[in-house]
Amino acid sequence: MPDDDTAALPGTVYLVGAGPGDPGLMTRRSLELIAAADVVLYDRLIPTGALDGARPDAELRYVGKQPGVPSMPQEEINALLVEEGRSGRATVRLKGGDPFVFGRGGEEAQALAAAGVPFEVVPGITSGIAAPAYAGVPVTHRDDASAVALVTGHEDPLKPESALDWSALAAFPGTLVLYMGVGRLADIAARLVEAGHSGDEPVAVVERGTLPAQRAVSGTLSDIAERVEEAGVRPPAVTVVGSVARLREEIAWIERRPLFGLTVAVTRARAQASGLTTRLRGLGAEVVEAPAIRIAPRPSDRADIAAAAARIGEYALVCVTSPNGAELLLEALAAAGHDARALAGVTVAAIGPGTARALAARGIDADVVPGRSIAEALVEALGEVEVEGRRVIVARAADARDVLPDALAERGAQVEVLPLYDTVPEPLDAETLTALAAADYVTFTASSTVDHLTRALAAAGAPFPAEARVVSIGPVTSTTARERGLEVAVEAERHDIDGVVEALLADVGRSELDPEAPLSPR
Ligand code: SAH
Repeated sequence: MPDDDTAALPGTVYLVGAGPGDPGLMTRRSLELIAAADVVLYDRLIPTGALDGARPDAELRYVGKQPGVPSMPQEEINALLVEEGRSGRATVRLKGGDPFVFGRGGEEAQALAAAGVPFEVVPGITSGIAAPAYAGVPVTHRDDASAVALVTGHEDPLKPESALDWSALAAFPGTLVLYMGVGRLADIAARLVEAGHSGDEPVAVVERGTLPAQRAVSGTLSDIAERVEEAGVRPPAVTVVGSVARLREEIAWIERRPLFGLTVAVTRARAQASGLTTRLRGLGAEVVEAPAIRIAPRPSDRADIAAAAARIGEYALVCVTSPNGAELLLEALAAAGHDARALAGVTVAAIGPGTARALAARGIDADVVPGRSIAEALVEALGEVEVEGRRVIVARAADARDVLPDALAERGAQVEVLPLYDTVPEPLDAETLTALAAADYVTFTASSTVDHLTRALAAAGAPFPAEARVVSIGPVTSTTARERGLEVAVEAERHDIDGVVEALLADVGRSELDPEAPLSPR
């Protein structure tokens, strides 16, 4: 976390670029300022979740355009920024892309300078460079383009008083990047050709660049308008004119990722979802997190947990059956004044690699880790461990199956079950329901996720996504899914996150990055 004293100064206005749309392309400075701001005045084209890190008490105010509503005039926004600055609030003015590239940030800075209000400019990655980059078009290239011009396509190229000199642009020795104006493409292309540009000049139009729904259309100055019309391209989109546009064929990368163009739902609790979400996004999928469950630490058992943690060294064997369990157990140990050393003489068993990683992150190397994350596999892996007459503790979710404690008790162990948390239902919000309805795949990583998702859908009166194929982590989860009336399209062979990802890729018919993959989205 940034040092709050310096992150955002009171009475200062920050003109901040939020980048082209991919949340990962926001700058560190922008995130730090959003987290510290008293007020954020934002536009439409900012990344999803850009404001998630804002303070709960911050004022978040939309000042962009809205269909059918007259947008706030620029003078009013300028005046508002001056007023916020004078009121002493730390103010972030958040805009898509870069604030000084067709963002009217220049005018806002002038107003602040004239009023003597302190301000700072935080550049962002501009869409005119980022969207082509995500579509495989470098705007400059040693062999192809030694200059690049950022041009607004907003103006009517046919009106005589146009501020743009189209003849000069046609003669420009480099790449033209046109912002806005996809609807004017036919006029713009005609104007450039008329002014001397070759009709064969390569052109690429990138719609919603860097976003999961990115699309790109390639052509030449003569046919691009028709192709764009055919594809139904809508704003926001940028147009790249120049020989670099041809390099797309060679360089396009995100569209060639195996899950590009597919929407995949992740149904784990948010606290657990990030690993799977990151893997899927890395493979090009649009991920919908639909956590119908939430991990709730158990306050009622806190005394028991504290007591068990305080004498953890007395157990012969400690079994941890989930990454959450690992974290909560280690927190309890810390609260009891212990660290990893308390487990020095204890055999530690993790139910699988994910749990082992969670333990390792806190300095504990599990002694027993089965390759497959199911209770049966752990029971088998514990076959060599002497438990008869010994005290054993199983740290887990309250509603977990009893396979492990039962098997250990059968072998004569004195088993104590330590319920660390509940998995509780979490209603799905409208936005998530809409996104979920469009899912191509729904992943289930535990029976509880099936139960909770089907219940949450029923509660919302929503059907299971019509087109979605179900990916299950293993047989137990598959059985639950079938009991709930779902058809399981594919079941993981390895019962962990990697296994789920492998199963999904196999079902899509892709294994890894395929350089021969077609460019068009599925
Ligand atoms: N300041 C912004 C530009 C604002 S003007 C920047 O630096 O990117 C709005 C125009 O930006 C849109 O009409 C479109 O041409 C372009 N644009 C913004 N986001 C885009 C995206 N994700 N993909 C393609 N073009 C985008």
